[in-house]
Amino acid sequence: MTHILIVEDEERIASFLTKGLKGAGYGVTWAASGAEALALARAAPVDLMILDLGLADMDGMAVLARLRAAGVGPPVIILTARTGVTDTVAALEGGADDYLTKPFRFAELLARIRLRLRPTSADAADHADCADAAGRVLEVAPVRLELDTRRVFVEGREVALSAREFALAQTLMRRPGQVFSRAQLLSLVWGYDHDPGSNVVDVYLSYLRKKLGADRIETVRGLGFRWRKPPVS
Ligand code: CA
Repeated sequence: MTHILIVEDEERIASFLTKGLKGAGYGVTWAASGAEALALARAAPVDLMILDLGLADMDGMAVLARLRAAGVGPPVIILTARTGVTDTVAALEGGADDYLTKPFRFAELLARIRLRLRPTSADAADHADCADAAGRVLEVAPVRLELDTRRVFVEGREVALSAREFALAQTLMRRPGQVFSRAQLLSLVWGYDHDPGSNVVDVYLSYLRKKLGADRIETVRGLGFRWRKPPVS
């Protein structure tokens, strides 16, 4: 059974969520505080976490940071009363996978949960591309991504990328020369079907340019971005 951990200090909301999610066929555990959430997430694997930001004992972002630092990696959907663009960007950069503001419609939360629990289209394509290859590698010289170990090399030198940076590089490198719009990248890398009104794509592209080389990713004015095709030799 797919297991969801709800981290929420308001009992009314927690019980509403628990009832709805159980009704949808999920196993549900409720943590009323950040400390309890950390203990539960470390004790047993969960498939997805719904995280409130305004908790009594600590900020939800601190819970997220500690989980990610400990290498605990379930998808996390933030559910919060905070609506600012800075909060959204901070949450996504802090390792959250999605962000929903209260008041919310349960149907929308459920749709997002299903999206997060489904393997991403990029992952599915990997398996299709290299189903029988032992070490799956995506290479557009001089950048090389090892898909199984998630290691990245530029001219043979290893570079550390966050999970999201890796996913963005992988998406672009799969189709060198193809232009991706911001909306496409938001959808393919972040799973959004709308623009949350942030510049998160641009922020991550600038991280990648810094780490992998400024010339790898081209901006095509008015259209989007593409991975530069290697010169024909
Ligand atoms: Ca709260």
